[in-house]
Amino acid sequence: MSVIGYELPQGATGFHLWQVLVTGEIRVRTVDWVTPLPPGLDADYSTPDGDVYVSEVLLPLSCDRCSSTEGHIGQGRWDDQLTLTCSRCGTGWVARWAGLSDEAETEASRQLLRQIVVQSGSAPYTVPGDRVREIRDDLQAGRWTPSRADQTLARELLLAVSGDPGPEAIARCMAATLPDRPLRSARFSEALARTVGLLRDPGAGIGAEPERSLVLDVVMDLARTVAAMDPAALRTEPEAAADTP
Ligand SMILES: [Zn+2]
Repeated sequence: MSVIGYELPQGATGFHLWQVLVTGEIRVRTVDWVTPLPPGLDADYSTPDGDVYVSEVLLPLSCDRCSSTEGHIGQGRWDDQLTLTCSRCGTGWVARWAGLSDEAETEASRQLLRQIVVQSGSAPYTVPGDRVREIRDDLQAGRWTPSRADQTLARELLLAVSGDPGPEAIARCMAATLPDRPLRSARFSEALARTVGLLRDPGAGIGAEPERSLVLDVVMDLARTVAAMDPAALRTEPEAAADTP
């Protein structure tokens, strides 16, 4: 694969933890093994299995759990491999894909993280919790209306997270309400996925611990607000495109 060099955004350090929401698909070039052989093509006996046709394709990275290919939170420090968190179910995984050697795959994953960071135009002085605070502030300012599905999830969170304030409890609640996901608010899903990603981050970046507990406080504050709202004031239809950021 060709290697494009990406430059660390000005003002950022290698310790900075980036978190970027990619609303569309993240497509990667990979090798596809197609069986049986398409008509008219000769078998390629250079592969371990001669009746397998090998081609290069672009495939979207998909969630290990719910197969979603969109709305992933990309995360990592500049020299890390790309870690993804699914904004539907909270599942996290390190982006790797078939057809490359371990070494090449590690480098490709690192380059993909850098590409996502650079193309997002994220400012180096923002911290992962800034967006979660913005989502809470948007709710308080009436810029989005939670749905009844959000309220169900918020109530589940208050019960689950009070006993277990870790990322897996939040992710379990997100996964448990997957059937309602089309009715969830994009902002609420994003806030939860960002929090899950941050809480899972093993890095010891400067200020990481206080930021983690602050962000957990903000997201639980958001959940309490949504849980306490009058159901009559909540959205019952899927979010209009104009409401999604
Ligand atoms: Zn998922």
